[in-house]
Amino acid sequence: MRLSYSSISTYETCPAKYRFQYEDRLPSAPSPALSFGDSLHRTLHRFHNRPVPVAPTLEELHGMLEHEWVSEGFRDPGEEQLYLDHARQVLSQYHRDNASSFRIPAALEHRFTVEVEGVQLSGTIDRMDRIPGGGYEIIDYKTSRRLPPKAVVDRDLQLSLYHLAAREVWGIEPERLTLYFLLPGERMTTFRTRHDTDQMRRRISIVAERIGAGKFEPRENPLCGWCDFQAACPLFRHKYEKQGGDPAPRMTDLVDEWIALKREDWDRYRRLEELRALINAFCEEHGYRRLFGSDGSAVDRRPQHVTAPDPGRVRRILEPMGLWEGVQSVDPKALSSLIESRSLPPSVEDALLASREEVRTQYALYLKDPARSRR
Ligand code: SF4
Repeated sequence: MRLSYSSISTYETCPAKYRFQYEDRLPSAPSPALSFGDSLHRTLHRFHNRPVPVAPTLEELHGMLEHEWVSEGFRDPGEEQLYLDHARQVLSQYHRDNASSFRIPAALEHRFTVEVEGVQLSGTIDRMDRIPGGGYEIIDYKTSRRLPPKAVVDRDLQLSLYHLAAREVWGIEPERLTLYFLLPGERMTTFRTRHDTDQMRRRISIVAERIGAGKFEPRENPLCGWCDFQAACPLFRHKYEKQGGDPAPRMTDLVDEWIALKREDWDRYRRLEELRALINAFCEEHGYRRLFGSDGSAVDRRPQHVTAPDPGRVRRILEPMGLWEGVQSVDPKALSSLIESRSLPPSVEDALLASREEVRTQYALYLKDPARSRR
């Protein structure tokens, strides 16, 4: 199996998207963000690809940008110009911050392939520098606007993979691993230990096993709105098919009816909650346990004590009596979350699924209502 950081990351975000992109090879559309990022990477490659340790001038850097600019995916020339102007600003800042300390890199856009747990992993390291005084720093350019939390950088799979590649390909242990966020002009630097490498191997082997087992379920995520494969995705396909003429108008009527009933449910629930608060407050103030309506029926107010047993104390009491096992049980919700986390090897996941006595799968229906989430 051949994987890369991008394909692993795509699988972890959404296994269905991985299948559409890497197995089915469905075409994806160019986008302004992709062209912008690609253009900056290509320009910086040229900027650093020098035989002498003297930085090109700012004018030369801007000239490189013109030459390397990827002119695809823009809505119109106006939008493209905005992106181009922004790229110029980003590179001006890059020049301000880096020209005076310019050095010839130890490696530039270095393609590598390493084997991890039987998987051929390939990638391209943007840049590797020698650190003054010794050691190496791997640098990867990012064109996202926001900086991630440090904890995310500390376990970033791409940097872990580059760290491993540097060890396997060059036999060196990079001291610094840096994500260089070009837009804010900020670097975030981390390092990796042997324990991190072991964790990465495990992560890769789980993804590889799941791909090998054909597990490609869709996983809704914040990037769905930008996904090129919505028309093929089970979560969105129906919407696209309807745009070309509803394949089952009668079913759309039924869906509309279900949605209307569900909304009524919500409205009723909300009103019940408002009344509950008012009734409780009234009973509290006047010491009532029961309030009567006009036809003789009544609202009965009963205390409900919400308690949570302390497992340690319960165990100390029951274990000596041999009764501890009898009160232990598997929490089905926690087990479902563990299975749905997709962090388990497929064999373990299958064994856990098979261990459930209920073999029937039933589907609950939920209402996704954009109007409600906006309220
Ligand atoms: S639309 Fe969302 S759930 Fe569907 S394939 Fe794309 S990323 Fe996955």
